[in-house]
Amino acid sequence: MKTKYNLPKDVMFCKKCVMSNQRPSSIAEFFHTKEREGAKYMTIDRNGICDACKQSEIKDSINWKTREKELIKLLDKHRKNNGDYDCLVPGSGGKDSAFQAHILKYKYNMNPLIITWPPIMYTDYGLKNYNNWVNVGGFDALVVRPNGKVMKELTKLSIVNLLHPFQTFILGQKNIAPKIAANFNIKLVFYGENEAEYGNPIAENNSSLRKKNYFAVKNYNKIYLAGMKISDLVKKHKFSYQDLKIFLPISNSEIQKKNVEIHYLGYYLRWIPQEAFYYAVKNTGFSPRPFRTQGTFSKYNSIDDKIDDLHYYTTFVKFGIGRATYDASQEIRNKHLTREEAQNLVKKYDGEFPDKYFSEIMKFLEIKEEKFFKLCDQFRSSHLWKRINKKWYLRHTVNQDGVDDKI
Ligand SMILES: [Zn+2]
Repeated sequence: MKTKYNLPKDVMFCKKCVMSNQRPSSIAEFFHTKEREGAKYMTIDRNGICDACKQSEIKDSINWKTREKELIKLLDKHRKNNGDYDCLVPGSGGKDSAFQAHILKYKYNMNPLIITWPPIMYTDYGLKNYNNWVNVGGFDALVVRPNGKVMKELTKLSIVNLLHPFQTFILGQKNIAPKIAANFNIKLVFYGENEAEYGNPIAENNSSLRKKNYFAVKNYNKIYLAGMKISDLVKKHKFSYQDLKIFLPISNSEIQKKNVEIHYLGYYLRWIPQEAFYYAVKNTGFSPRPFRTQGTFSKYNSIDDKIDDLHYYTTFVKFGIGRATYDASQEIRNKHLTREEAQNLVKKYDGEFPDKYFSEIMKFLEIKEEKFFKLCDQFRSSHLWKRINKKWYLRHTVNQDGVDDKI
């Protein structure tokens, strides 16, 4: 049986959390192609433990006092004290960026500028959280909105080519901060948590610096948007280079010239999502979603964009990993859930179809609903899914009740 996207052929689950070895490691979105050549997936070791769980044990042994001292040293190096912005915090109004910006300004006396690449389709409570972040939290803020027509077309193409409805948002969110920092002469940018915490190779976690190949490139001929080369997008879809530039990463030479450093605040400060949530509620007027997020049990993770719910549905289709699996694994690592509780939550919610905003999204993007479901079928790998009487079933699950687990 051939797998799609170079996925590992044998499905395995971590013994500590509920994550499988089908979880893709983060790659820069601009290297993302349909076939995912060279893609890497979560390592589960001989004892059955995944890299993310190992990383969370390492976190328990970190001396956070020492790390905070390192942070203060870094901040002192960049502190301006003349009214100019001395650091940049990207975010769209979620709990993590709210926490970051607030603690930098009010505990460490920095002067951050917050920068927002807005969601493709803001939820009303997401937009309210964003406004509260600025108005209740108290920050200067900059919003960079891409050309809506181009954003819509590219989002549509990334669904058709990659089954990846969230790509344009991720691209903007990751690429805009270094470019704005270079423009505004701000030499320090903070992201929150390192991607490695959730399953990239552990070695990437040993540095506070974001790896340059996540946000800067040397050769624009070698990168992709919506799974297509830039030149092909221009040729086949009537985009101009100007249309696309805002979605592209900064160049290596520019970032070097401007000396911008991109750090993870999560390297310096112990990051517990639930605590970031309480902090944001208390300090920046953050509110959770007024109802449970479809596909999972939580109410406060990534709730700004209507399209995010659909994004997690597509990870369920492509990798067999739904939003409840992501959330529950994280909660196990933070010791807020037992594995048994997590397994039950996965059984209950993983892969639940997010119908609340679905029709609205399809209408907005001008995609027929049936077409979306047809695309989903094309993106399912046969080592993960089996079709019985026109319905799809997972072959393997963490609850060992997949159609091939029973054999
Ligand atoms: Zn694990």
